[in-house]
Amino acid sequence: MKRIAALLLSFVFVFQSFAWGFLGHKTINNRAVFALPEDLFPFYKIHIDYVTQHSTDPDSRRYLFEDEGCRHFLDCDHYEFAAPLDTVPHNWFKAVEKYTEDTLNAHGIVPWYSMLMLRKLTKAFENKDLIKILKYSADIGHYIADAHVPLHSTSNYNGQHTGQHGIHALWESRLPQLFIDSFDLLTGTVAYVQDPQEFIWNAVSESYEAVDTVLFLEKRIGMLHENNKFSYEIIGNNTVQVYSAAFCNDYYRSMENMVARRMQKAVYAVAAFWYTAWVDAGQPDLKNLSAEIPQDPLDEKAEKARENGKIKGREEHGKD
Ligand SMILES: [Zn+2]
Repeated sequence: MKRIAALLLSFVFVFQSFAWGFLGHKTINNRAVFALPEDLFPFYKIHIDYVTQHSTDPDSRRYLFEDEGCRHFLDCDHYEFAAPLDTVPHNWFKAVEKYTEDTLNAHGIVPWYSMLMLRKLTKAFENKDLIKILKYSADIGHYIADAHVPLHSTSNYNGQHTGQHGIHALWESRLPQLFIDSFDLLTGTVAYVQDPQEFIWNAVSESYEAVDTVLFLEKRIGMLHENNKFSYEIIGNNTVQVYSAAFCNDYYRSMENMVARRMQKAVYAVAAFWYTAWVDAGQPDLKNLSAEIPQDPLDEKAEKARENGKIKGREEHGKD
């Protein structure tokens, strides 16, 4: 009996604290390159490894800086019961005026922060500053991708208010891990975005609209799998509890490709924002920029902190 108890205690959830998981973020930034119009595609093709590898930097920085966390989500339900989010000012300064900066930061700022990143990326293009272009491209790809995740648009982000603890990583990590090979991520070539602010708020609104379905179906399919919702895998020295393949399969199918559709939309949005920044910067010629990219010591530091440390601020996958 004791041994069983000890074994049970050693069960840990395998999921990492990364929105869309490593796989999702890397896939989104990588595939966004192929959605670019042909005047910008060659530049990103050269640097595809950078924007792919660095797509998870913003999550790593959450282990270093307290103020990083709020850039990855928006608790829409703090402001409105349902989409559309039309009582929250979409302009940052007006929102600060209405709610104060502290309130906004407490409940997440992903759409506003994506707009700030767009301005920074545009400036980097204007200055033909290669390092900043690549850094901001990778970063904005991450934030935009997060804005497309339904559970990044609610204060019930890990099902902690509805007895569905663990759903965050299930939706954005476990399901992509299992089904990504079947995802249709082709988007066609992106177009210039006339109103990026409304574009990103729409994305968050769509995410918010999907929250009910994400939660309801997990509960319903979970009831059908009362006895086999979880299974155990051995990873290294740990026995790890995971959602079972049978449950994941039924939950994934019940959502009718929602995970793939949100990821596909994220791919489009990331490429469209890259392209829009470049056009707004006057379509600078990037051909002669050096291909040398020095390592940023901060990235290394953040990576180490992630390996050893604890996330600062909101822990999406913890026992909140
Ligand atoms: Zn994130």
